Amino acid sequence: MLIFKERASLTAYLLTLRTEGKTIGFVPTMGALHEGHLSLLETAHGAADQVVCSIFVNPTQFNDPEDFKKYPVDTDEDIRRLLAAPVNVLFLPAVNEIYDQGTGALARYPFGRLESLLEGAYRPGHFQGVGQVMGRLLGIIPADYLFMGQKDYQQTLIVNELIGLLNIKTKLVTCPTLREADGLAMSSRNVRLSPEARGKAPFLYKTLLFVRDHLEQMPLEALIVRATAQLEQEGFKVDYLVIADKTLTPLTEPAAAPMICLVAAWLEGVRLIDNLLLS
Ligand code: AMP
Repeated sequence: MLIFKERASLTAYLLTLRTEGKTIGFVPTMGALHEGHLSLLETAHGAADQVVCSIFVNPTQFNDPEDFKKYPVDTDEDIRRLLAAPVNVLFLPAVNEIYDQGTGALARYPFGRLESLLEGAYRPGHFQGVGQVMGRLLGIIPADYLFMGQKDYQQTLIVNELIGLLNIKTKLVTCPTLREADGLAMSSRNVRLSPEARGKAPFLYKTLLFVRDHLEQMPLEALIVRATAQLEQEGFKVDYLVIADKTLTPLTEPAAAPMICLVAAWLEGVRLIDNLLLS
């Protein structure tokens, strides 16, 4: 595995590979790697000739400075894991390598309604930050395929929009959410859960399953109220629990087209998100 810290040398290297006819699969991460990240790398390995992984904790997507400060960083352990994974290139830039003009006064992307609903409503500016970093990373890494997790479903819609705005040929591949044996979606933030909160956390996924299994037995609005109440009873503070279509338009009646249930909730100071395709 080659490690690059400078964007110019990485771009030059990848362009050489492309002239040799090699396809490039890209997996962007913020480190603190877990099996979920590794599954994206495996999928990339199956689809592209060369797999590029980036580790960059992007300051512009943290609306809460405390969350940024507390974000787990263990680069040595990440590199150790990547050495055992099918990765050809690791990009490990410093902040000024990505934001060479600083992080103030960045241009805004016109993401429209997508950036202000659900996660966007609770994390103002978050998706502009995602756009900023992904726009830059995709400018540095000429990826044929980009692999991202369904766990961050709204993020995949934003990045798809970004790819259209940038008018590039990169194809976004959305990969399934990897879960712990008890159903909790793997996340770098899970290490911040106390043992007690860790014990309760799988109830988030159980609630998504409850919604899926009761779709035909209750009106959607009543089902949402019931599921939210169950979470609150278990000690979660719910930011949102919605049933929507795949474009994130909330539904009040069951639809024949695919539906998705999305949830974000706090458990003892840790914010967890998850979602489940319902049909
Ligand atoms: P992060 O490091 O949290 O920014 O995540 C990097 C990528 O890994 C994103 O595309 C996430 O959606 C994806 N990801 C995070 N958790 C999981 C998971 N449990 N299963 C599959 N992909 C995941």
